[in-house]
Formats: sequence, C-alpha cells, structure tokens
Amino acid sequence: MARAAGPIKAVCVFCGSSSGAGRRYVDAATSLGEHLARSGVQVIYGGAHVGTMGVLADAALAAGGEVVGVIPEGMVEREIAHTGLTELHVVADMHERKALMAERADAFIALPGGAGTLEELFEVWTWAQLGLHAKPIGLLDIDGFYQPLRAMADHMVDEGFLRATHRDTLLFDTDPARLFPRLAEHQLPQVGKWAG
Ligand code: AMP
Repeated sequence: MARAAGPIKAVCVFCGSSSGAGRRYVDAATSLGEHLARSGVQVIYGGAHVGTMGVLADAALAAGGEVVGVIPEGMVEREIAHTGLTELHVVADMHERKALMAERADAFIALPGGAGTLEELFEVWTWAQLGLHAKPIGLLDIDGFYQPLRAMADHMVDEGFLRATHRDTLLFDTDPARLFPRLAEHQLPQVGKWAG
C-alpha cells in the first residue's frame, strides 16, 4: 500500500556486480556512498563485495556510515558477500532479497549497472506505478549512462503506453549531493495505473 513520503533515513542503492569501464562508475559509487554516510543515511544494498556494490559499501563504511547488505544464499560465494557490514542478511532467493531491501528503505537510487540493476529498478518503478509504495526513485546518470532509458520512457509516453506522471517518477541527476535532496522533496503521483 502506498504511504506518504517521510524523512529519508535509509536508501536502497541498486548497483552493478561489475565496476564498469574506466574510473567514472567507481568514482560515482564512492561519492554516493560517502555522501549518504555523511548525511547520516543508512545504505541498503545487495551485500556483495564485487563491482560497484563493493565500492559503494566500502566508501560508506569508511565515511562512518551504516551499511546493510541483503544477499541470497546461492550468491554468497559468487558475489563474495561483504563481511565488514553493519548488518548482513543472507536470504533464500532473489525475491526475498528485493523484498527486504525495499522494506528497509525510504527511497531508491540506481547507479549505472547491468541487467540485474535494471531489473531491480524496474520492479520498484512499476510497483510505484501500481501504488504499492510511494518511495522516491532516483537514477545517478553518470556521463549520460541513463539517457537511453530516459529516451525510452519518453517514447513510451509518446506512444501511449506510459503516463507522463509515471515517467516523471524517475528522478535523473548527475550528482549525489543534488539528487538526494530532490528525492526527499519528491511526492509520488496519486494517479494509479488503472485510473481512467
Ligand atoms: P548487474 O547489474 O547485472 O551486475 O546485477 C546487479 C545485482 O543485481 C547483482 O547483485 C545481481 O545478483 C542482482 N540481480 C540480478 N538479477 C536479479 C533479480 N532477478 N532479482 C534480484 N536481483 C537480481
């Protein structure tokens, strides 16, 4: 059920199991982790020590933040579970992982990532569209990484498959320090997917 936006105490970050090409994605994960930690915001994420997931967690911990990881049993070895977290939850499967991450968070941020990152992002976006939650969603658009997704969302609106209000649920920004306050102020649309 949707609930009104309140203060953001915990942010769920979707990020890659890879580090991406070049330093820019690693730098973005570092700066997001540091920014959340310094803002006193708990980081909720996939619990791995690989890719930008590990970078984000290490940066937040090094800046004195709290980091909660949620990893499926079968991925503990493959994604190398992070052993230095504030809390590590080992769950049965991907569904439990996403459910617990979403439950613990007041907002979501997607860093650049692969198909897994998009899967997680699309679930929270579509659940907001269905009115199942009212937690804000941001995308860290490093070097235009998310512009093709933005264009796709515009295309879906133009072609009558997506309401503009639901497209506008996704907040794009290049800078964590600017994105975070935008999330805190953002009110999700009251228009449900099935409204006339
Ligand atoms: P990727 O962006 O593909 O590197 O994946 C990022 C994270 O998403 C990894 O921790 C994957 O294990 C996770 N992931 C991939 N598919 C799913 C899924 N269907 N549900 C939940 N998490 C997933």
